[in-house]
Amino acid sequence: KKGPTVRSSANIRVVVRVRPPNHKEQGDNSRDVVKIVDDQVLIFDPKCQSQAFFYHGVEQKGRDLLRKANKDMQFMFDRVFGFESTNCEVFENTTKGLIQSLMDGYNCSVFAYGATGAGKTHTMIGQTDNPGITYLTMAELFKAKQDLQEERKFELGISYIEVYNELVQDLLNPGAPLQLRDDGRYGVMVAGIKVHKIDNPDELFTLLAKGNGNRTQHPTDANAESSRSHAVFQVYIQMEIKATREVRAAKLSMIDLAGSERGSATGYGGARFAEGANINKSLLALGNCINSLADGQKYIPYRDSKLTRLLKDSLGGNCQTVMVANVSPSSLCYDDTYNTLKYATRAKKI
Ligand code: ADP
Ligand code: MG
Repeated sequence: KKGPTVRSSANIRVVVRVRPPNHKEQGDNSRDVVKIVDDQVLIFDPKCQSQAFFYHGVEQKGRDLLRKANKDMQFMFDRVFGFESTNCEVFENTTKGLIQSLMDGYNCSVFAYGATGAGKTHTMIGQTDNPGITYLTMAELFKAKQDLQEERKFELGISYIEVYNELVQDLLNPGAPLQLRDDGRYGVMVAGIKVHKIDNPDELFTLLAKGNGNRTQHPTDANAESSRSHAVFQVYIQMEIKATREVRAAKLSMIDLAGSERGSATGYGGARFAEGANINKSLLALGNCINSLADGQKYIPYRDSKLTRLLKDSLGGNCQTVMVANVSPSSLCYDDTYNTLKYATRAKKI
């Protein structure tokens, strides 16, 4: 039997993806602050010896002293993906390895973390002609189902919800906010959610597109495409082992997190401020859960937010987690990138 391509003994796999610079980041005001050393190591804000300053054609040796010292910090992850990386490559080296765990009956979770514009949605959803890891993972899951169909009876269902302003909304069936409750079989469930049965990955694309169309998006001063909602795509897998009639259930959660930039940076006030505070609540709670898990603590504060309550049974314990930390390569996103790298480093210790 073929084993999974990627599986470490650790419960979490943390990777960083550096997207290509956008138009603005190729301008004069921008410099690269992420240097990829190899497929596991990057340097944030590297020292660059060659940066000479000229005045009337004469190199000014002393000028460098006026510059703020470079952080020149080395970070190591399970994998670092550069500009040229594709969604397929990211998939092969991250979530593909989760399929075996799901088949074994373990819950799995996948997070795309990073500031707005860093590439989270590109990684998770992608485009029709360049599908993201959600679609690629589902295609792999269907393949596993096919391979095992002699031995097992499968039932697959999906839901796609949004946590926005600490309210849970069904993206496939928008209406009044939904409550969370504990379910015997699948752990925490969204009460009243319609689970959609799917039989092939193409049905999925239609559902994903529909759900994405229903995501909450509000323009802000800083970024017109800013998203402060967490999109949570969940797959419920039920398997009956025909020979023994043993029933196994597993859940896969794939989350396109809200932008990790601080609300204050976007310069909004009033209603937007409360919204920002609530987003921080779920992201903050996720960070606190990760910290507690990383420290090996007994008490994990899952109940502190909607997002962490929802993921209580999919984070820690026997669960396998993948975190894709998305960053821009540019000095224009210096703080966001630095914060994301620190967050991702913390998560590695789970
Ligand atoms: P986020 O969801 O984190 O706010 P997006 O995924 O929407 O960010 O990415 C912002 C922009 O950058 C989009 O136009 C997206 O297509 C582009 N982009 C992001 N990552 C990549 C990548 N790895 N390669 C090419 N373009 C990318
Ligand atoms: Mg996005």
